[in-house]
Amino acid sequence: MNNTSRFSLVGIGFGPSNIALAIALREQGLTDWANHALFMERQPEFSWHKNMMLENTHMQISFLKDLVTIRNPKSEFTFINYLHQKNRLADFINLQTFFPSRHEFNDYLAWAASHFKDQTSYGETVFDVQPILANEQVVALQVHSRGVDGSEKVVETDNLVISIGGGGYIPKQFRKLAGDTRVFHSNDYKVAIEANNTAKKIAVIGAGQSAAEIFMDLHGRADDNQVDFVIRANSIKPSDDSPFVNEIFNAEYTDKVFSKSDIEREAFLKEYRQTNYACPDLPLIEQIYGVFYEQKVRSHYRHRFLSSTEVAAVDADENGIHLTLTNRKTGDTKVCSYDAVVLATGYVRDQHKTLLAPLSKYLGDFTVGRDYRIQSTEDFKPNIFLQGACESSHGLSDTLLSILAVRSQEIGEVLKQLKQTSTPQVTDNTALVD
Ligand SMILES: Cc1cc2nc3c(=O)[nH]c(=O)nc-3n(C[C@H](O)[C@H](O)[C@H](O)COP(=O)(O)OP(=O)(O)OC[C@H]3O[C@@H](n4cnc5c(N)ncnc54)[C@H](O)[C@@H]3O)c2cc1C
Repeated sequence: MNNTSRFSLVGIGFGPSNIALAIALREQGLTDWANHALFMERQPEFSWHKNMMLENTHMQISFLKDLVTIRNPKSEFTFINYLHQKNRLADFINLQTFFPSRHEFNDYLAWAASHFKDQTSYGETVFDVQPILANEQVVALQVHSRGVDGSEKVVETDNLVISIGGGGYIPKQFRKLAGDTRVFHSNDYKVAIEANNTAKKIAVIGAGQSAAEIFMDLHGRADDNQVDFVIRANSIKPSDDSPFVNEIFNAEYTDKVFSKSDIEREAFLKEYRQTNYACPDLPLIEQIYGVFYEQKVRSHYRHRFLSSTEVAAVDADENGIHLTLTNRKTGDTKVCSYDAVVLATGYVRDQHKTLLAPLSKYLGDFTVGRDYRIQSTEDFKPNIFLQGACESSHGLSDTLLSILAVRSQEIGEVLKQLKQTSTPQVTDNTALVD
């Protein structure tokens, strides 16, 4: 553990949020920050939700909400410049779409990330953040990480930006089956379904975009599997991406949401929940409806659509996963057995609290200011910024791509105003960046 280097900024995670930040720092001329920043990413190379990289999946947001355009349409990191660099601009225009495939957007993000290779340490999982104390104050932070070979490293910084995305939410009935590879979250779908490639009876739990995409993937994967699509609601409703509603994802809305009282904000988030949660795209819903209609035409009832259905209890043995399913309207209960169960049950975004647990004495309840900084006690001098975990305070756009470009600029502006407490030094950069 002797590889201790000091960086002016350490970013945990190198997904779209921190890529956008790396670009913004460079474009805002914040060279001290930009040149002495280190981004630590647990994956061995860049990839964007790789276990949900399914065929025929598309962006749910306009490509114009890429890493930069809304902040700086002249940036070299626009999606349009990416297309130009890849010699596909004219062909993309011929597609007449605002919604590239997820494969293409992943390639765009990987292309953007590749410009920051010398500042990114891949295969490095951050597991702990400790205070550095001097004169009874926290003056800096030690960021502890573990590489793929198990070796541990420590870096120091005054400015930490945590952008680690969400962790799969596992409903509590299923938690006792942790470690049973037949039950897995959509986050792990591609790799886990390969490991379960002999599964014939499969349940998909959830009513969102991921559940819908997984249903269609399973339908196309084999013609003899049987999929139960289990949802709590009466029916699947589409996401509302109509123009007036979509204004809530405009960058200026962050101020409006943040300045509301807690009660108003909660009501606001509830009112617009249908823009992002449990709401697949309409064309996908239509495809699924078509699958069930075709079953009726052929009188071959392979899959089931179990609406108004709650998973009341879960059991497992060598014969399968046994779900007790309760009809929420009638109260009728039945036990159905499956070879595999996919939990497309959404995400939790509180893992930063585990990483920062050693600092909780200084950070209280992890309240985040408008400038994305976690509020702290007077004797805590470093800055910790949080991206993607501020939905309850900053609005529904916080977990999405919509405000990446503007949010990273805002963080850059804060850094610009900060008096650097120490000159950034990089003592052992090569040991950290492959
Ligand atoms: C399947 C899917 C499709 C989506 N499609 C859209 C869409 O079309 N439009 C849209 O606006 N949003 C979409 N989203 C929402 C998504 O949250 C954003 O697109 C975007 O990925 C957010 O970027 P991020 O960098 O904040 O988080 P992530 O993309 O989740 O990146 C976080 C990164 O941090 C790394 N990491 C996590 N923990 C650690 C650690 N301890 N140490 C080191 N590294 C760590 C992860 O490996 C990951 O690379 C989608 C989400 C999913 C799951």
